[in-house]
Amino acid sequence: MKAGDSLKHFTAGMKMTPQRMAILEFLEGNLDHPSADDVYRAVSARYPTMSCATVYNTLETLRKRGGLLELSIDPLRKRFDPNPKPHNHLICTVCRKIVDVHIDYRVELPAETAADFEITGNHIEFYGVCPECKQKAATGNRPEDNG
Ligand code: ZN
Ligand code: MN
Repeated sequence: MKAGDSLKHFTAGMKMTPQRMAILEFLEGNLDHPSADDVYRAVSARYPTMSCATVYNTLETLRKRGGLLELSIDPLRKRFDPNPKPHNHLICTVCRKIVDVHIDYRVELPAETAADFEITGNHIEFYGVCPECKQKAATGNRPEDNG
């Protein structure tokens, strides 16, 4: 599948309520790797009747259908990625921002180390400090200067 394939391709037969449409719209092309809470907060601003359960159920349904990746890279909360194409990630250890890395590293597990597994994929996590957090650290977190 090409990048930019729509999440709508994964909704065949799903009952599409306005709430679910709003969740899909928020996720479509989203590069921020939001948590369920992030999705709930963003979408309930427009749909005050949105429930957490609707968000969780919709995310789980899309995940099972292969439209969303669930990332365990953030130890504090599950994060979701609407780009199901295999790729790697960078995470900021300060603010937990997650950024895509699209380089095919061709990591291969030699047969003698694969314990007879049929390998179906891999995922590389890079840890670091993002430019914003680096900047904050450099300025010592002090309140903004007045110029
Ligand atoms: Zn950061
Ligand atoms: Mn990603």
